[in-house]
Amino acid sequence: MTRSQFDMRAKVASLMPAVVAELKEMIAIPSVAFPAFPPEPVRAMADRAVAAFQRYGVPARLQEIPGGYPTVWAEIPGPAGSPTVLLYGHYDVQPAPKEQGWTTEPFVATERDGRIFGRGAADDKSGIAIHLATLAAFDGKPPVGIKLVLEGEEETVSHLEAFVADRPELFHADVMVVADMGNLTVGEPVLSTDLRGHVKAIIELSTLQDPIHSGLFGGAAPDALMALIKLLAQLTDDSGTCVIPGISSAEWQGAEYSEEMLRANAGVLDGVDLIGTGGIAGRLWSKPSISVLGLDCPSVDEGGNVLQPRARAVVAMRIPPGQDENDAMDALIAFLRDRVVGGVHVEVTPNKKSPAFHQGTDGAAFAAMTTALAESYGRDVGRVGSGGSIPLLDELRKASPDADFVLIGAEDAALARIHGPNESVDPGEIEHMALAQVLFISSLAAE
Ligand SMILES: [Zn+2]
Repeated sequence: MTRSQFDMRAKVASLMPAVVAELKEMIAIPSVAFPAFPPEPVRAMADRAVAAFQRYGVPARLQEIPGGYPTVWAEIPGPAGSPTVLLYGHYDVQPAPKEQGWTTEPFVATERDGRIFGRGAADDKSGIAIHLATLAAFDGKPPVGIKLVLEGEEETVSHLEAFVADRPELFHADVMVVADMGNLTVGEPVLSTDLRGHVKAIIELSTLQDPIHSGLFGGAAPDALMALIKLLAQLTDDSGTCVIPGISSAEWQGAEYSEEMLRANAGVLDGVDLIGTGGIAGRLWSKPSISVLGLDCPSVDEGGNVLQPRARAVVAMRIPPGQDENDAMDALIAFLRDRVVGGVHVEVTPNKKSPAFHQGTDGAAFAAMTTALAESYGRDVGRVGSGGSIPLLDELRKASPDADFVLIGAEDAALARIHGPNESVDPGEIEHMALAQVLFISSLAAE
């Protein structure tokens, strides 16, 4: 380690108490940007983030986004000839209903077992903390150009995507750092190279004019719910593998994900087989998967002795990088229509699609972050994928087609439980990621 790397490690460490205190204050603000939730906390959170960055000399301000919540924005010009690095995170959070099974108040930061619990502790207020610690370590004057972009609507309908499409020049950068990911395990650094895309369709089957008595007509008159169940059962083979034809699929080439880790992280019950074939990493990151996410039909308590005339389901497919999302949607819709038998009336409506994302590993910035992570953690860096999609990345890539995307963060897969109850973050991950980002920026400046 060089002298300046040593100094930077000490500097980031000295900043951590204040950064963690700030993170706890941010967790206390329920910045849920879903339409049904109050707007005041979302705006309060944006203001809080602006003030936090200003305290360290970063000229942060609000950037209004048409139709949506503002983005926290800062632009710091770098020395002549230095590259521009865009730092992305988001300040909105998922809702946190108590019924999810929270054992602490979701909007009160609570320390336990070396972790900080609370909604947004990891996703993605930890990303804000990483960027805050990074820019604070440079006293607000980093040796490269910086664009800080903290979105207010990542978890809901994003208006930032259209704004980026409208004003791509504002988002032009040489490198994009997306701090909304995490290591598989605390203390073991990884870089995400692939994100699966997502296509969803709603299918409705109809067989009868009205609900009818199951005793008088059962056995001759078809019920729509049974027809729907038979159709949905055809989406996978006996191993649970998606059988929609024409969807690309490959084995994963990077780090492996152990079956034991998957079972623990997903909470698979004892004795229940996993689905799919081949390595776990491939099943999660480089092969398609298909799921039924919801059904409209009578509940068990409300279902009478009645045959259902109509039934509806939402079917969602995750698609690997390299698979076009429009082709995937067409294939899904065609499959659902073609497999309905017996003349049952079928209507399929496309619901949502987001593209998959792939980052090549041969770019200079990707290599620089690999080195910085290895230095910060003192360990080799694995390459992983992610099942979740971030549609905004596609717009950012259009704004800067040549930029390397570096996907990092403190949302570890093992314990962070993002979107679920008892979300938490390990502050050590924030510190390691911030130091890596500081070393990364320093190395870009030195080139
Ligand atoms: Zn997130």
